[in-house]
Amino acid sequence: MKQAVILAGGKGTRLAVRLDGRPKPLVEVCGEPLLGRQLRALADQGIEDVLLLVNHRAKDIDEFVATATANVPLRVALRDDGDTPLGTAGALFAAIDDLDDEFLLVYGDTLFDIDVAAMLEHHRVHLADVTLLVHPNDHPADSDLIELDDADRVVAMHGYPHADGVDYDNLVNAAFYVCRRKGLGRLLETGRPQDLAKDHLPALLAAGARLFGYRSFEYIKDIGTPSRLELAEAHLKSGRVARARRSMPQHAVFVDRDGTLNELNGYISDPDQLCLIDGAGAAVARLNALEFRVIVTTNQPVIARGECDEAGMGRIHRRLQTLLGHHGAFVDLIQYCPHHPDAGFVGEVPTLKRKCECRKPGIALIEQAREILNVDLKKSWFIGDSTADIEAARRSGLRSILVQTGEGGADGKYPCHPDYVVADLAEAVSLIATGPLESRVGQSQEAVY
Ligand SMILES: [Zn+2]
Repeated sequence: MKQAVILAGGKGTRLAVRLDGRPKPLVEVCGEPLLGRQLRALADQGIEDVLLLVNHRAKDIDEFVATATANVPLRVALRDDGDTPLGTAGALFAAIDDLDDEFLLVYGDTLFDIDVAAMLEHHRVHLADVTLLVHPNDHPADSDLIELDDADRVVAMHGYPHADGVDYDNLVNAAFYVCRRKGLGRLLETGRPQDLAKDHLPALLAAGARLFGYRSFEYIKDIGTPSRLELAEAHLKSGRVARARRSMPQHAVFVDRDGTLNELNGYISDPDQLCLIDGAGAAVARLNALEFRVIVTTNQPVIARGECDEAGMGRIHRRLQTLLGHHGAFVDLIQYCPHHPDAGFVGEVPTLKRKCECRKPGIALIEQAREILNVDLKKSWFIGDSTADIEAARRSGLRSILVQTGEGGADGKYPCHPDYVVADLAEAVSLIATGPLESRVGQSQEAVY
């Protein structure tokens, strides 16, 4: 894939105070026009040709490109659709003859730092027509959400606003795509502007196209308003953008579910039984702000027992994400072990009644998360309420924090030597955020169950 298309139309009305008379793609981000940053980022990712789709102030943009590409190995072509309102899909289809068989599609108002090769591999492995980069955000209730199946195929697109009482996975379309030109189909309507995300992709999906989601924690944010732009600038200056690269080892906090994140309420088999522990939502939001990847790792023998199937577990975890979303919080990964070692119960699922490596204190799920999110286990933590959590942490080299909610470490199943003992998740996150206190270390040495 050698080509990228940048959708750089629009007047930037909302960004006017920051434009200083410049066209929108040239808005300065930490002193450098955004388009210049995008071109450099694309060249770094091996892109050789850029097609820039504009409909406003093409001459100014063209002049900038001439100077910006002097030192960047890129060929940039401009296509100016004038004042005709085509919409993003309309603009793309107007340029269809200039598109390669496979190309990257980005929006001209996003700041991104993405490993394109990794996304392209995902696209090719899945034989996708279009691959959408998706990620959780801290306001899923007012975002357009994407629903994926277990194989990452898009099964539904849920545009905002969402109906009350419906839970979705917190997966937001980041407007960063790998496309197969022939997989884009035809523009359905030409009489009015067609938006890619709102009109064309849902139509493609309905027509059976192979749309896939590529989950990523890498940095991508739209800077279409002054406040978003300021936030992105702060992230650039603080190094947050670079730290979110896939190649950078990530700090993570593994969090147990029942008894740690939500109230221990028997075996939860229905979303309505799920209730966050006081302060847990805000605690997860705090971990998000601290740039920890948050990974829920939970034993769910309720599946092996036949009391809840995988679809039911999906509903429970969508509720969990909705409840966290109310607190501006999200998780990067939810993993569960569906197995149970002891057979002989009425209604059980025989194939899941087996010994496995993923049931905590087994560490297969932790190893899997390390792989998926490039986690540096030495700089990461496990917070849990059971002895299995603490033992899993020990086996995988994670620092452990036992919370006194849920089982409170009193289940007696495994040796339990947590590094720290605190009241609850909120206190555990405070400990991680502010650094362990010496007095706490002393306390933890006594707190051996
Ligand atoms: Zn298992």
